[in-house]
Amino acid sequence: MDCQICLQKYNGNSKNRIPRILKKCGHTMCHQCLKKQEEDDQIVCPFDRKVTRLRGGVKSLTKNFAILDLIGQEPAYPRKSKKHTEDSDGSEKKDSDDDDDDDEEEEGVRIQQPDSDEDSE
Ligand SMILES: [Zn+2]
Ligand SMILES: [Zn+2]
Repeated sequence: MDCQICLQKYNGNSKNRIPRILKKCGHTMCHQCLKKQEEDDQIVCPFDRKVTRLRGGVKSLTKNFAILDLIGQEPAYPRKSKKHTEDSDGSEKKDSDDDDDDDEEEEGVRIQQPDSDEDSE
């Protein structure tokens, strides 16, 4: 599954490649492309020009779990992507006590992953 805008593969483990859904029209593109479209807390869909209002930035948009599922990934939790990003079979969340982290992580400007830069381009 590639982002229709930048034609790069979606990747739940890489923040900028997380597919997110535009609420207004239902189109999906990657986080990075959404950031580029973002202006005044809203995003004009490049496909159909519909405007999706943001409440809290791109990170507030819903991840497209259907795509993440298709590519065999769930959004990664920062601390989990230490060593085995490539063969983490993306099955179920293993440590469910970390569930809350998902939202926490998105509040920050960037994920801080001091021990991993595998998702940097
Ligand atoms: Zn993109
Ligand atoms: Zn659209």
